[in-house]
Amino acid sequence: MRLTFLGSGDSQGVPRWWCDCAVCAEARATGRNCRDRPALLLERAGTRTLIDAPPELRRQLVAHDVRSLDAAFLTHSHNDHVGGVVDLYDFVRWTGAALPVFVPARSHGMLLERYPWLPTRLDVRSLDDCVERSGLRWTSFEVPHGANGFAYAYRLEADGRALVYMPDSLDVPEALQDERLRDLELLVLGTSFWREEAPREQRSVLDVEEALRLTARVRPRRTIFTHLGHGVDRDRPLPAGHEFARDGMVVDAW
Ligand SMILES: [Zn+2]
Ligand SMILES: [Zn+2]
Repeated sequence: MRLTFLGSGDSQGVPRWWCDCAVCAEARATGRNCRDRPALLLERAGTRTLIDAPPELRRQLVAHDVRSLDAAFLTHSHNDHVGGVVDLYDFVRWTGAALPVFVPARSHGMLLERYPWLPTRLDVRSLDDCVERSGLRWTSFEVPHGANGFAYAYRLEADGRALVYMPDSLDVPEALQDERLRDLELLVLGTSFWREEAPREQRSVLDVEEALRLTARVRPRRTIFTHLGHGVDRDRPLPAGHEFARDGMVVDAW
């Protein structure tokens, strides 16, 4: 099972329009910290599945020569995760293939409120709990997203192995960690800053220090941090078993 990080940035991408911090300056100079909004491409058993549809989706699919998709899964209806869904609408117009787009139940209505015409071409489905696709069991679960309310994550299981994609979360209760984040081959976890100084009530995504406390507790075999803002320099070292994603990075999940 192969994962391609189509985008590894947070909601505003890196560099920020307005910012001259060291990470944004580096992103402009060499591009090592240059990041689009987040999406993943998952390839398994001859199928391709997209997770999330950020505003840069068209460019991301072109860059990786993706001309067919078997399904798409969306985590929640924020712009950095669904702003490119209009490109999926165009995509199926030309491929002519039906494209199931799974959206967790609470996000499904919000998505269709914004884009009521999507179902005229896309097979938009509300996902209540789990579904089998490409030989994987996909389970969606709701996670707290701080000031932004709620988001969803996905746990993918096959052959007795599991990975979780959880780009947007904050203050994930220990009971939920124990239920969903145990025994992971791979945890792909969103972290916007190394240490975010903003007041708690304004925050919406884990910082790296909090994320490291979470992984010390649930102990995934491997952790990849994504959804990275300009508070993260991806050249900064991480403890063993942890790494930062970068746009275009390809990994074997197992
Ligand atoms: Zn986000
Ligand atoms: Zn979000």
